Amino acid sequence: MVEKRKVVLVGTGFVGMSMAYALLNQGGVNELVLIDVAKEKAIGEAMDLSDGVPCSPARMVIRAGDYEECKDANIVVITAGIAQNPGQTRLDLLQTNAKIIKEITQNVVSSGFNGIFVIASNPVDILTYIVQKTSNFPTSKVIGSGTVLDTARLRFLLGEHLKVSSKNIHAYIMGEHGDSSFVPWSKSYVGCKPLMDIMKQRGEEDMLERVHQQVRDEAYEIIERKKATYYGIGLGLTKIIKAILNDEHEILTISTFLNGEYGKNDIYIGVPAIVNSQGVQEILQIDLTQEEQAKFDHSYEVLNELKNKVI
Ligand code: NAD
Repeated sequence: MVEKRKVVLVGTGFVGMSMAYALLNQGGVNELVLIDVAKEKAIGEAMDLSDGVPCSPARMVIRAGDYEECKDANIVVITAGIAQNPGQTRLDLLQTNAKIIKEITQNVVSSGFNGIFVIASNPVDILTYIVQKTSNFPTSKVIGSGTVLDTARLRFLLGEHLKVSSKNIHAYIMGEHGDSSFVPWSKSYVGCKPLMDIMKQRGEEDMLERVHQQVRDEAYEIIERKKATYYGIGLGLTKIIKAILNDEHEILTISTFLNGEYGKNDIYIGVPAIVNSQGVQEILQIDLTQEEQAKFDHSYEVLNELKNKVI
């Protein structure tokens, strides 16, 4: 491979390093630069990960670095953030993380970076909006991980229940990466058969909302048991990066900017969209039922209110 495929990761915590480990395992990136305020951590992570290179499918140069490394990167991934301190409200946390993300974006842009931003730090929809506004990059080149993880959880649970490979479950979680997300069940398929038809035949229509509830609760449950979630999102980020670097034109439920789609403007929110080497090629607008549109409207309201508190 002659072509240079360079990714810079800002934030070498659980999420960022799970992604880095997945990238090393899967191959396809030949340069990975790690940036963190905790510089020693970034250096240690680069050393540890590099030890795996001989056992990985392809050579990958991994090093800790600084923002000037972003200049010739294809993608900058942001997974930096701070956890909620005791007594700190969610809004305080949002304001702190918004400030961090703004500074990071300014540093990346100052380097002369001209690639694609991928953001996973939470609240991801709001922080992705802030990265786009701060960078002034085209909206197609600023992508949030959105409901990629939520959708993966949904497909996994449905696949397990139906005893069908999750690869053949075409169902999406849309809206906020958070409690107001929803599933457009009317547009969910197993292979080419509508999921609703299958559930009706099995007398299991009630089960659908329970599955969604389970997806929503899973993050809380994992955090309660092991303090953080990271493998799922690490692999989800890897999928987004590969869709960009391999020009996959893959449909992913990323957080992207709406400009009239679903009747909404000036918001980053999770919707199915086609991702390729240029970033977001196109939003795949689907016909929602009235009930589904009402759920979308609610999720938009939740995000818009939060956005107006920090912008
Ligand atoms: P973590 O605490 O393990 O890692 C965060 C890292 O960011 C730390 O290494 C910290 O030093 C670094 N950091 C903080 N401020 C920085 C700055 N100004 N510049 C550079 N680096 C900085 O946290 P984590 O578990 O890896 O989670 C990271 C983020 O990902 C959180 O916001 C979390 O909520 C989010 N997350 C998102 C999803 C999703 O689906 N989008 C899923 C899980 C977690």
